[in-house]
Amino acid sequence: MPTTSEQLRPWLERVLANHESWAAEFGAFAQHDSLAVKDGDVAAALDELALRLRDNYPFFHPRYAGQMLKPPHPVAIAGYAAAMLINPNNHALDGGPATAKLEREVVRQLAGMFGYDEHLGHLTSNGTIANLEALYVAREIHPSRGIAYSAESHYTHSRMCKLIGVTGHAVPVDGAGKMDLDALESLLRTGKIGTVVVTAGTTGLGVVDPVHEVVALRSRYDFRIHVDAAYGGFFSLIAGTEGIDPLPWQAIRQCDSVVVDPHKHGLQPYGCGAVLFADPSVGRFYVHDSPYTYFTSDELHLGEISLECSRPGAAAAALWLTLKMLPLRADGLGAVLAAGRRAAVRWHSLIEQSDRLVPFQRPELDIVTYFPAEPTLSAIDAGSERMMRDGMSAAEDPVFLSVLRANAEAFARRGIAAVADIDGARVVRSVLMKPESEDYLGRLHERVVALAG
Ligand SMILES: *Cc1c(COP(=O)(O)O)cnc(C)c1O
Repeated sequence: MPTTSEQLRPWLERVLANHESWAAEFGAFAQHDSLAVKDGDVAAALDELALRLRDNYPFFHPRYAGQMLKPPHPVAIAGYAAAMLINPNNHALDGGPATAKLEREVVRQLAGMFGYDEHLGHLTSNGTIANLEALYVAREIHPSRGIAYSAESHYTHSRMCKLIGVTGHAVPVDGAGKMDLDALESLLRTGKIGTVVVTAGTTGLGVVDPVHEVVALRSRYDFRIHVDAAYGGFFSLIAGTEGIDPLPWQAIRQCDSVVVDPHKHGLQPYGCGAVLFADPSVGRFYVHDSPYTYFTSDELHLGEISLECSRPGAAAAALWLTLKMLPLRADGLGAVLAAGRRAAVRWHSLIEQSDRLVPFQRPELDIVTYFPAEPTLSAIDAGSERMMRDGMSAAEDPVFLSVLRANAEAFARRGIAAVADIDGARVVRSVLMKPESEDYLGRLHERVVALAG
């Protein structure tokens, strides 16, 4: 495979040529002097910028096996650049008719991935705003009832409940980190809960809540279900393969709303999130009247179904081009996720066989958690921290990991027999979201074992 820059160079040439020919149709004009910059100055400043940007971890390289970070696919960069040269605003149709259409197309594809026939949805800046919109609609529908989410859900849910003035209820998790259904049911029995947020792929461990079992509870209780699949959503494409239980993913179609972040597993640059509602009539909760915008048609504008106003049309163009090349199928974008998933499963078994490392939990998706074999939580904590620090500061063959804090109870419930001399410990966490991790795994494992000492 050619490198990102090798791929991009001719594509960007094409993007520039296409843009030039479109711009030329409007005739020549003189650019204002105030905007002039000197080539030499730009070159120098670009070099200075490059120097400053060196202060980054190599997210692109498989030796980066830490947080949920990786660069966009080169195709997404080309698509983004093509639209950014025009800079359309997907707030309103007059801000960018072309990218508004592209957004509708990609949103329809995302809805199809989750099995929504009818839908209302749009792209957002990120998963936080997308979830906020879903919780806002939930509050409008059940204004006097609370919102329940698992104790391991993203912290945005409790924070956003405060913001929208709704009581949030954290539901305990079971020994695998999934929402505890008995605890949820006792909460539902009180009648206080209007909406349950289930997470399909928690941010910490990549755990999938039992969406199908929460759906089943609706035969006895009346409540909405929102699925936070910001991180995990694209695993829908390979559910039922690679050892991924299909049931929670198939149940998303029966839920009221779902959030997915194309800027996580969808190969997109930040910010690209998405929110989808199964019932298009929730558009009524967004209704507003603006004297400034919406002149071109009677259609429902994206700005009328979004809490955000200005949004980059380029994000829609980037996602559209990416999905044209890597469609939402098992053999399209799904193949990218499947490679990371296989790497995670294989790494888990290598860790199980190692004397120096202990797995914290079996990966449900592509997040692997482990810690150095030590007798006490304090030694595990210090050891995990040291592995992360030594790995990234190594002059030769560095490796970049991240850590996750778990309490003493979480260790005990996983049957890990470490002496609880402190109330919790950090473990090492590696998100294998780059498909290259699969080939690189041998080296990565060897290096991590060496770091464990
Ligand atoms: C990342 C994430 C969020 C927040 O999304 P941002 O795009 O970072 O704003 C919310 N929920 C889950 C499950 C996530 O993984």
